[in-house]
Amino acid sequence: MGAGLTGLWTAHELLKRDPGLRVTVLEKRIAGFGASGRNGGWCSTLFPQSTAALEKRHGRDAALAMRRAMVATVDEVGAAARAAGIDCHYERGGTIVFARSETQWRAAQHEVERARGYGVDALELWGADRVRARDARGAVYDPACARVHPAALVRGLARVVERQGATIHEQTTVQGWQPGAVRTDRGTVRARHVITALEGYGAAVPQTKRRILPLYSLMVATQPLDDAVWEAMGIAHGQTFSDGRHLVIYGQRTADNRIAFGGRGARYHWGSAIRDEYDRVERVFAHLVATLHELFPQLPPLEIEHAWGGPLGVPRDWHASVAYDPVTGLGSAGGYVGDGLSTTNLAGRTLADLVTRRDTELTRLPWVGHRSPSWEPEPLRFLGANAGLVAMTAADAEERATGRGSIIARAMSPLIGH
Ligand SMILES: Cc1cc2nc3c(=O)[nH]c(=O)nc-3n(C[C@H](O)[C@H](O)[C@H](O)COP(=O)(O)OP(=O)(O)OC[C@H]3O[C@@H](n4cnc5c(N)ncnc54)[C@H](O)[C@@H]3O)c2cc1C
Repeated sequence: MGAGLTGLWTAHELLKRDPGLRVTVLEKRIAGFGASGRNGGWCSTLFPQSTAALEKRHGRDAALAMRRAMVATVDEVGAAARAAGIDCHYERGGTIVFARSETQWRAAQHEVERARGYGVDALELWGADRVRARDARGAVYDPACARVHPAALVRGLARVVERQGATIHEQTTVQGWQPGAVRTDRGTVRARHVITALEGYGAAVPQTKRRILPLYSLMVATQPLDDAVWEAMGIAHGQTFSDGRHLVIYGQRTADNRIAFGGRGARYHWGSAIRDEYDRVERVFAHLVATLHELFPQLPPLEIEHAWGGPLGVPRDWHASVAYDPVTGLGSAGGYVGDGLSTTNLAGRTLADLVTRRDTELTRLPWVGHRSPSWEPEPLRFLGANAGLVAMTAADAEERATGRGSIIARAMSPLIGH
């Protein structure tokens, strides 16, 4: 249920393991309509729970296994797209996270040290001489990140899955499910295995209404910029970028030299409502453009040629999960917060192993079988989610004002997977 990357990678991997399977994908709009077709194109090692938080909850070995699986998945997405003939502009140029204050610089040093403690030597600490963002003391560079054109990936994958023999029923709305059957607005589908892959949209289905919270992230894309501008910004092809602020921002250099840039900060809507009009908030678009100019004063005037947004899915404990019950045949994957581009591929391979009853390294990862608590009913959900967004903005302001690590951010960190 759901023809985003979770549903489609799962279908792809199932048919790779057993081409004789009959796989049907049910999609309310068109394949790739959701977050999978609209994201920032960071194919990264990021998992919503930090390695330290995973260690606290599941132990060191499990946390390290998860981290290794995420690093491998970055390459896996590129290899799978290449093998399937999908041209999605995959280029593994790494990601640069600028440290733009003393506090961010200390956090950057701490992050690299901590990664080394986990045996991850790939992270590099770049000095001020290597970066071109305003006020940057330096940056953390992680080579394990690829730039991707998300819509090209998900639409390409839909075609591949159809060629493998799956049927994708678009314009078909799932209304509910039980072991062996899925009820839609166009009839009932019977199946031995039923996989939920609705991510943020699960909040609009009664059965999963409180299991996920849809949080909007919005993006803009500029006109194509000259190579000289990119050189002045210090961003090479294939690279993605961000900085150390708490209210997440993310950018990439697209294959045709645009900046595709996004951020969170759009408010949560009462009752977890999801509407097309929420994809566009002029105030947030204007803020994104101002942020770009603030980050790179060397930029020329920017023309915003595209602007859009969409809901990502947040579980109550910010812990993504994969689940499958062999007795009922019911399974699911999701809760990636903003880190689903690569993680959906790991979910698809894991679900395919679980459904075909394989016991593999993947099926033993700590996110398998994890169950997040439900979100509170309204009005608590509305108050909590919007207070969280305000808190992150306040934490950035507090750090700017005091020059020290934010107390607000420290208080929030266990709630958001750190
Ligand atoms: C603006 C934005 C930027 C992002 N940037 C990044 C990034 O740079 N890197 C990263 O890793 N992650 C990013 N993410 C998150 C990432 O895109 C998602 O985690 C990932 O795409 C989730 O994939 P999915 O298949 O689980 O869900 P989705 O892609 O949301 O797919 C769910 C599908 O279910 C369909 N559906 C909904 N309701 C029903 C129903 N009742 N019946 C049938 N079908 C239904 C939807 O139409 C949709 O196609 C971003 C998300 C957004 C919104």
